[in-house]
Amino acid sequence: MGFFRAQHEGFMETLATWRDRRDMVPALLSQAYSSFEGNVAFQVQGFPEVACKKGCAACCTVRVVATAPEVLLAARYIRHMDGSLQRDGVNLKARIAEADEKTRGLGEAQRMSLRLHCPFIAKGICLIHPARLFACRGHASHDRQACNDAASGSPIEVPISMPHRMVRSMVQNAMQSALRDSGYAWGMYELNHALSIALDDEGAEDAWRGGCDVFREARIEDIDMLEMAAVFDEIRGLTSPA
Ligand code: SF4
Repeated sequence: MGFFRAQHEGFMETLATWRDRRDMVPALLSQAYSSFEGNVAFQVQGFPEVACKKGCAACCTVRVVATAPEVLLAARYIRHMDGSLQRDGVNLKARIAEADEKTRGLGEAQRMSLRLHCPFIAKGICLIHPARLFACRGHASHDRQACNDAASGSPIEVPISMPHRMVRSMVQNAMQSALRDSGYAWGMYELNHALSIALDDEGAEDAWRGGCDVFREARIEDIDMLEMAAVFDEIRGLTSPA
């Protein structure tokens, strides 16, 4: 609880400092991802090693959900990379649009059963690795074979790293809670659809900073936002347990 509250306060300060400034999104995510990486490095001590290695993309067929700042940072990174990727014959915008067409509106299980790789995978490598989302950072496995079996459809339980999962949830939720208290859209969105919107509209980031829910069409409907808000308030001691 103390960790969540401290993270929340830290994000509130950053949002206040960077309000009305163009680089609020990179500043916020730099803090969020650094906090995740630093706290995971500490929390994994004593746990078995994770099996995730560069070149393994077995889990990159899942539905990726992300907050608006995460999507906006990924869109910035894609725009920045666009020239060099185009020279290598990779048209990321077209790949995202194609993936969006195939995955739009699908639930988690339907998305997984498609066995369609994320549009950012090339030769097993994530093309947006420095800007990858909380969902990707927080999903780490202890058993590579189990990941491969699950990716090919076996009903197998993958032993995932609990410290990664727990820290991801705490830091991402604290950031969402601060976004909510600061008047920004704080929902969860499906990545392919939200990125298509962000890449089609150069003004999406400014509109989001102005308080608009620019990715509302890509909102994940199976997450209960009222319940989530109630949990945030309870953790921060603003309400009593139900
Ligand atoms: S963004 Fe990168 S790490 Fe995340 S699912 Fe896509 S390819 Fe995998």
